[in-house]
Amino acid sequence: MYIVQIASECAPVIKAGGLGDVVYGLSRELSLQQHTVEIVLPKYDCMRYDHIWGLHEAYRDLWVPWYGGAIHCSVHCGWVHGQLCFFIEPHSEDFYFDRGHYYGSDDDEMRFAFFSKAALEFLLQSNKRPNVIHCHDWQTGLVPVLLYEIYQYQGMGNQRVCYTIHNFKHQGIGGVKTLWATGLNRESYYFNNERLQDNFNPFAINYMKGGIVYSNHVTTVSPHHAWEAQYTDIGYGLGHTLHFHQDKFSGILNGINYEFWNPEVDSQIPYHYTPEDLTGKRLNKKALRDRLLLQDVDKPIVSFIGRLDQQKGVHLVQHAIYYSLFKNAQFVLLGSATESGINDHFWREKVHLNNNPNAHLEIGFNEELAHLIYAGSDIIVVPSNYEPCGLTQIIGLKYGTVPVVRGVGGLVNTVFDRDYDPNKPLEERNGFVFYQGDYPALESALGRAIDLWYEKSNDFEQLALQGMKYDNSWNLPGAEYVALYDRIRHK
Ligand code: ADP
Repeated sequence: MYIVQIASECAPVIKAGGLGDVVYGLSRELSLQQHTVEIVLPKYDCMRYDHIWGLHEAYRDLWVPWYGGAIHCSVHCGWVHGQLCFFIEPHSEDFYFDRGHYYGSDDDEMRFAFFSKAALEFLLQSNKRPNVIHCHDWQTGLVPVLLYEIYQYQGMGNQRVCYTIHNFKHQGIGGVKTLWATGLNRESYYFNNERLQDNFNPFAINYMKGGIVYSNHVTTVSPHHAWEAQYTDIGYGLGHTLHFHQDKFSGILNGINYEFWNPEVDSQIPYHYTPEDLTGKRLNKKALRDRLLLQDVDKPIVSFIGRLDQQKGVHLVQHAIYYSLFKNAQFVLLGSATESGINDHFWREKVHLNNNPNAHLEIGFNEELAHLIYAGSDIIVVPSNYEPCGLTQIIGLKYGTVPVVRGVGGLVNTVFDRDYDPNKPLEERNGFVFYQGDYPALESALGRAIDLWYEKSNDFEQLALQGMKYDNSWNLPGAEYVALYDRIRHK
């Protein structure tokens, strides 16, 4: 099969979060399963060019219709760790992708509407006719809309679209401008509740809703989140739309790339280890302490890695720091915040804890340090308010770092409470789960984890080993996506 992914991220070259990991990991798995995969991305000024091999101009004169005229673009091509990627570079005074960041401009909606249009125009002009176009999140929600309403009449009538939603919170809210810029035009046709009109703001169009309505199939990144999105407020207003389209909506759990996230081969950690021999994990713990100037004492290290955002339960992250210290554990945090209030708050915490030999807060994005933290800590907390899939607990499991998670979204599908899980036998349990969003709930799970480390270290190690044995590679989800692509191709 020939699959083209259209996305705003692809790790490690463009990564703001899990979306980047998924686009790369799934593409690689599909390639391993003998499918042809190409990835179309924006050419950002700030991406990691050092992860692209053989970057060259592949298509010089791509004219992308925009408003009444057209924007001149070049398309560059290169390999990102074995995956063929095309990077679209517009030459216009808007400098859409030369902003020094991936997201966060006032005109993000126009930037990614343009990218969606340009990606399809590129496929059209370069005669690429994939069996399936797989696009992701709000940034590419307009791709199936444009395909169905415009490009199918220009020679792309056989292409099918799979649309994956990684986060319902950001949906891409545009207006009349988007319609005129992209050539969709007909206002009254699109400002219709069955098409693009936002479910709450009648004067707005919603890209993600467009993605849902116009795709051949819609997925989100875990089965439990697929249920939550339809039946709770976690669908952020799209629950009804999803329910209406439920026959083409499902959840497929994300995997992780075991060539990259694997303590047996990870090139970014100083000591490798296996479930048979955890000596390397203990050495990594020492290396982590040395690096962050933590005291070298007989204590567990609890960690948090992730965006510092309301979604991630920042009030519980903060509480986890002080509760861990209270329970005589050490705490390491690696996180970055886009909201200035949250950023300032964690900077104050960092300054406050600066001289504490048992805590280190690292504010920022640091891939290499993330690897060392996964490898060197004993417990990882994921206290999210909602979590479509969550990768940090899955990575933690692979590194023998016991997850303590809130029972929401994909966390429910991946972490099974050592003491209380109703469905898994004891030998298949792998962490600790709590459900409510208050401090006592977090303490009940984190406290059990730390107590187990102190009081029954063999049992704690056994739990970590049980987690390491889980297969959360892309193997199975990759096959699920292939089956899905096959279904929509032949419908
Ligand atoms: P989300 O996509 O909501 O941000 P996920 O758990 O799905 O969260 O994916 C997070 C990914 O980003 C993981 O690979 C994690 O290691 C990485 N990550 C998050 N924050 C940081 C950071 N500050 N530094 C390095 N890696 C980070």
